[in-house]
Amino acid sequence: MEFKGLLHVHSTYSKDGKYTIQQIKELYKDYDFIAITNHYEHCFEKSDQIHYEINEQNNQLNSIGKKQLIILGFEYQYNCSHILFIGLAETIPVDLEQIKILIRKKNPLVILAHPQMKDFLLLKESLINYVDGIEVYNSLHNDKQYPAFHLFRKLKKLRKKNNTIKAFFGEDFHNGVNSDTAIYVTAEKLEEKDILLALKNGNYYIKNKYFTYYPDGRFEYIGRIFFPYMKSFFVEVLQYLNPKVGKVIYYLPYSSRIKQKLYQFLKLFFGRI
Ligand SMILES: [Zn+2]
Ligand SMILES: [Zn+2]
Repeated sequence: MEFKGLLHVHSTYSKDGKYTIQQIKELYKDYDFIAITNHYEHCFEKSDQIHYEINEQNNQLNSIGKKQLIILGFEYQYNCSHILFIGLAETIPVDLEQIKILIRKKNPLVILAHPQMKDFLLLKESLINYVDGIEVYNSLHNDKQYPAFHLFRKLKKLRKKNNTIKAFFGEDFHNGVNSDTAIYVTAEKLEEKDILLALKNGNYYIKNKYFTYYPDGRFEYIGRIFFPYMKSFFVEVLQYLNPKVGKVIYYLPYSSRIKQKLYQFLKLFFGRI
């Protein structure tokens, strides 16, 4: 059976989350499953409480009489990289080696959220065999109408080293619906273990009204592709230049007007990529 789902959702257990789990169910009432991934550092002490609330929600039909599955997870910050652990209710250790042991032992779905240059280094150096995939599209951080093409290219390179690394999607819901994107999973039953297994095995595709893509990075775009592609390429160049330009700006006199203008310029391009 095919199930419509949403990954990477923050509830009020995250300090920057506006809606309760029950309200999120209402906002996405036609979705079959929702993975709640609050910021770990905001709520790890409340893990039992969240677990309890999710169990309660899973035993109730939603307002249109539909069964919805809520899956517990966390968004964990490791050295500024954001890693999603879905299907995990454990304490996450600080040490990377210990994290790897936990992944092997508990086998959660592990996704690198909204990856940037530095995150790929972490992946290549130590986590390449421990993550299930990366968010090649995050509807909060990326453009609404097209995915980040440079992330698809990165995925292709990563898959040469580990071809089980898959293309995922994150809604990164905090305070309102970002997009109509969903992940469509083929699984036997609407149960946590079946859904997680299907996601781990790559039995899914991601779709919204502009594009569709598949776990291996294959991609179908509805509409003209040239301009979105060029914009994405431009973003990639800026991402490469950003640390270098940032260094030059740092050495300009603090109050200089040029410095303020340059910061504004950078913010314009880097605020939401
Ligand atoms: Zn994040
Ligand atoms: Zn997030």
